[in-house]
Amino acid sequence: MSSIASTQQLEEKLKNHFGFTSFRAGQKEVIEDVLKGEHTFVLMPTGGGKSLCYQLPALLKSGMALVISPLIALMKDQVDALLENGIKATYLNSSLSVDQLREREKQILKGEIKLLYVSPEKLLSEGFLGFLKRIDEEIRISFFVIDEAHCISEWGHDFRPEYRQMKQIREIFPHINCVALTATATHRVRQDIINQLHVQKPKVHIHSFHRHNLFYEVRQKTKNCFSEVLALIEEDTESSSIIYCQSRKSVESVSAKLNSYGIKSLPYHAGLDGKIREYNQEQFIKDNAQVMVATIAFGMGINKPDVRLVVHYDLPKNLEGYYQESGRAGRDGEKAKCILFFNYGDKAKIEHLIGQKTDTQEIQIAKKQLAQVISYAETPLCRTQNILSYFGEQTDKCGHCDNCLNPRPLTNQTLNAQKFLSCVARLSISFGLTHIVNILLGERTDKVKKYKHFELSTFGIGKDKDADFWKWLGRSLIQANALQETEDIYAVLKLNPLSAQILKGQQEFCIPERVILFKPKAPEENKISGGLDEFSEGLFQRLRKLRKQLADKAMVPPYIIFSDLALKAMAVSRPKTQRQFLNIPGVGEKKLKEFSEAFLSQIQSYCLEYDLD
Ligand code: ADP
Ligand code: MG
Ligand code: ZN
Repeated sequence: MSSIASTQQLEEKLKNHFGFTSFRAGQKEVIEDVLKGEHTFVLMPTGGGKSLCYQLPALLKSGMALVISPLIALMKDQVDALLENGIKATYLNSSLSVDQLREREKQILKGEIKLLYVSPEKLLSEGFLGFLKRIDEEIRISFFVIDEAHCISEWGHDFRPEYRQMKQIREIFPHINCVALTATATHRVRQDIINQLHVQKPKVHIHSFHRHNLFYEVRQKTKNCFSEVLALIEEDTESSSIIYCQSRKSVESVSAKLNSYGIKSLPYHAGLDGKIREYNQEQFIKDNAQVMVATIAFGMGINKPDVRLVVHYDLPKNLEGYYQESGRAGRDGEKAKCILFFNYGDKAKIEHLIGQKTDTQEIQIAKKQLAQVISYAETPLCRTQNILSYFGEQTDKCGHCDNCLNPRPLTNQTLNAQKFLSCVARLSISFGLTHIVNILLGERTDKVKKYKHFELSTFGIGKDKDADFWKWLGRSLIQANALQETEDIYAVLKLNPLSAQILKGQQEFCIPERVILFKPKAPEENKISGGLDEFSEGLFQRLRKLRKQLADKAMVPPYIIFSDLALKAMAVSRPKTQRQFLNIPGVGEKKLKEFSEAFLSQIQSYCLEYDLD
């Protein structure tokens, strides 16, 4: 097939090989650029469907695509999923024996493989560059894929020095185009990826980070935190959950406690032996354990699409991390909850950790990151808006986070806002939030003394409130766009037209009250189970069991057979014929052949049993 395909051809391939009827937002545009042979940079949130953006073009182009992917543990899953869809793929990494390696290299050189996954270590291994040259000469490399491309940047949260080898590979194969994909969004990392890969005029595709199926909520962390988590898990004992804790110790204790309540849960942290970690991860992915209790060591690249709940037991260190971790919920597009437990004790703990650092730049970054997390936790406004604004994205209120569902009563903070803003206005140069708060409180810090700020008329005018209050007010002003905060590490505050109006009394400043004392009752429609009637629900559970049996037999995770979404569609539409079965999302030609019989007969016997049509 020529490398330029019509939309119709692309959609046919999509259905035949992946079983999907339509592209997700942005996928088609990326695929077209990749087919045209452009360097392509893709920024899409976790679960957005990045893999398809290179897998489909790899199928259509002649030759073989080379995919660099950071985690060995996940490579097998990715390749299994492709094979299950009838797409010829394989991987090379250090987990294979010499014989296996030879066997696969042969297959590759025979031109039997469309997608080759390699670990970053493999790029550095002896003879690998020579092997690549041979592939390109004999069967041709269609393009390079750099998955989780932020790993190439020191500014990202997962720097992998081996990724830097791409620079050399680019020099050796300047004619082969690169497709870099990531869910990590800051401007700096983005630029760094493009520089490191040395690609000229890449086509840049940036997609919204708004994930409409995620329900963000922040709860006050009290002594009852564990029972609340337990209740959340018990709401839906069929689905998978991840609980993130800060320390290894709390991971172990929360996991043990859950088990004592009859919830099958496993721990995951860097202190565990590699074998055990791998085993636990696999048990979770294969639905043998319902809950994974983990430190942030768990999860990069985890493909499990049907995680319905991600709880943060402790305060995350930065919003980027929080977005990534919570984003592991609901990758299949079905509703999922992301809940953060927060109290000021956790904040103090992180501040204490920051206090032990010595590098001033590192301290500034950590402080700024903490302020952003606190702003998220404290905001009385839409959580989704708050988190997206961190990625430089502006959206309407999401309508389904805790604050949108249960808006807190408004308080008129005009007077306090005027005190704060006039304090900023009195300064001849700009300062950061903390310094302004110190002036308001009348604190004689070194900086206050150095600049003689105790002479200001605003010095100490905010003594009736505490530091947390003023910080909250300052951040509320920033979020309401009534004050500007610059973007650098040493962020400083500046007035803007809205600040001026508030100062002159032309504009009131009313915001929802500050205290966090809620446990929102989600309206009926937000229940996660997704509105199946009694019979469909029964059938859905049956099909899940069947899927599990088939998955165990094939030694793959259940979602590789079919997604929850596919099973739900079967449970609701109850197909009778092969033709009807093909209409189920996720059913392509290979899966039709392989699984339609088992599922159709299960559906039929259920219908007979319950006398359904
Ligand atoms: P990412 O790498 O961006 O985090 P994945 O590529 O792993 O996301 O895709 C996430 C989920 O979305 C997978 O379960 C995948 O099968 C599904 N998916 C991708 N594209 C489509 C599509 N066009 N229609 C339906 N589901 C899709
Ligand atoms: Mg991915
Ligand atoms: Zn909202």
